Amino acid sequence: MSKIVFINPSTVTYWNSKVMNILNYPQTADAPNLPAMALAALTPEKYSFTYVDEVIDEVDYTVEADLIVIMAKIQTAVRAYEIAGEFRKRGKTVIIGGGHCAVAREEVSRHCDCVMVGEGENLWPAILEDFENGGLKKVYSPEEYPCAEKLISPNIHIINFKYYDSFPIQATLGCPYDCEFCAAEHSGGRIYKTKPVEQVAAEILEYEKLNQNDFKADKKSYRFVDSNLYVNRTYLKELLTMLKPLGIKWEGQGTVNIADDEEILRLMAESGCRGFSIGIESIRPESLAEVNKVKTNQVDQYETCIRNLSKVGVIPRGFFIFGFDSDDVTVFQEAFSFIERSGLIDVVSNILTPCPGTGLYDRLKHRMFNFNYKFNYKDDNFWSIVFTPKKMSADDLMLGHWWLGAKILDLDFIWAQLKKHWNYGPWENIPQLTLRERIALVKAAARLGRHRMYKSQKFALRAAFYPKTSDFKRIIRHIRVSELTSIIPPVKNPAL
Ligand code: SF4
Repeated sequence: MSKIVFINPSTVTYWNSKVMNILNYPQTADAPNLPAMALAALTPEKYSFTYVDEVIDEVDYTVEADLIVIMAKIQTAVRAYEIAGEFRKRGKTVIIGGGHCAVAREEVSRHCDCVMVGEGENLWPAILEDFENGGLKKVYSPEEYPCAEKLISPNIHIINFKYYDSFPIQATLGCPYDCEFCAAEHSGGRIYKTKPVEQVAAEILEYEKLNQNDFKADKKSYRFVDSNLYVNRTYLKELLTMLKPLGIKWEGQGTVNIADDEEILRLMAESGCRGFSIGIESIRPESLAEVNKVKTNQVDQYETCIRNLSKVGVIPRGFFIFGFDSDDVTVFQEAFSFIERSGLIDVVSNILTPCPGTGLYDRLKHRMFNFNYKFNYKDDNFWSIVFTPKKMSADDLMLGHWWLGAKILDLDFIWAQLKKHWNYGPWENIPQLTLRERIALVKAAARLGRHRMYKSQKFALRAAFYPKTSDFKRIIRHIRVSELTSIIPPVKNPAL
C-alpha cells in the first residue's frame, strides 16, 4: 500500500510560550490545515496517509513514504521549501500545494517535483493517477482542469483533536471583488461557489462526534476559513439559520459592510458567532482607492459597523495595512485614535506587501527593492518592507508600524477596549465568568506575580473581579499574545 504524508509547515510552535507554562494552562494549536484534510478526503482507500502539523509535531525525515505533500501558505513558503529540500535529498517525491502555489508557481516548482495550483478537488485524482503511472507532471493547474462543481468535505479523522482549539470549516470559495493586494482570487477564483448548507451541517456534526472524547464542552469552536462570507446574502442567511440549532461558537471573516445588515447581524449572533474579522485596511479613503477597496469600505461608516458588531456580542477583529502611497508618518497616530475610539479590541496590522500574481505586484514590482521575493516568508507575517511608499521612508514605515503594534498589544489598552465591548452586553447567550473561572484567574495572577509579570498580573486580576467579564479563554489569550510585546523594540512614533 502506498503511503502519503501530508505536512502543514510552520515556523511557529505553540509549545514554547513562557506565560502559558507559568499559568500551567494547556497549550493548544490553531486550527488544523483544511486543504490537507480535503486532499485526504479525496485520496482512494488503497493509500494510507498521515498528517504532520509542524505547529505541534516534528517532521520525521526518515519516514517511510511514497509521496510527501506539503501545503504552503505565502507566510510558510520558505519553511515548506526547507522541508521539501530535506525530503528530496533523501530521494522522496515531493508535491507542494496550498495558497502560495497560486501566486508563485514558478518559484515553488524549483523546490519540488510537482506543484499543485488551486483547488485539490480538481487536481488530486489526476495527480495520483499520473504518479501511479510514473508520469507525474511538474505543474497541475486549474487552467487544465475545470472547476469542480462541488466543494469537498474534509477527512477530519487525520487530525489529533486534543491539540486543537478550533476547527476549520469552509462553506464558500472565491470572492468576486478585485482588491488589488488580495491573493484570494488566485486560489479561489472570482466566481463565488457555495457548499450546500446541509453538507456544512454534516461536517460540523462529524466534528462534534469525534470531539466528544477529547474535548471539553467549552473548547468547541469553529473557524470559517472562507475569504469572504458576505457575498451571497441569501446563501449566508440559509447558512446562519442552519447553524443556529447546532449550538456552536464560531468565527469568520468578510467585508466590513456586513455590519450594515441588521438581519444578518442578528442571525450571526443567534448562530453563535463570537468574533468576525473585517478588512478595514485603511482609515484613509485615498488609500482604499489606490487598491480598489472602495466597493465595500466606507470610512465614514467604520465606527458604526464596529459598534453594530459589538452590540450583538460579536467581537470585531480589524485588519489594517500600512505603506500605501497616500500614507505619511501621521497615519499611525490617526489609525490608533480611530482604533481607540471605535472600540476595536483585536487588531491585525500588516505592511502592504505585493504578493506575486496580484495586481499590486504588477503595479509595484519595478519599485521593489528585494525583487527576488525572498523577503519576509520566514517571519510568518507581512511585516517586512519591500518597497518605499511615496510619502514616508521605509524606516519611518517600520517605526510607525512597531509603535502601533506596541500600543495595540498593551494590556492596559486592551482592558479599556474590552470594557467598552462588555458594556454593550450582557447578551443572553454569552455567559459571564463563573466563580470557578474567576478563582482560576486569581490563582493565575498569583503565579504571574511570582514571575514579575506585573502587567499580566494586573490584567488577570481586573478580569477576575470585573462583574461583566466574559470568555475566560479570551482573557488567557490576551495574556499569551501580550508576550509578543517583548519582541517589539521600544520605538517612538516617527511623527512625534
Ligand atoms: S473583499 Fe476580501 S477576499 Fe475579496 S478580493 Fe477584497 S480582500 Fe480579497
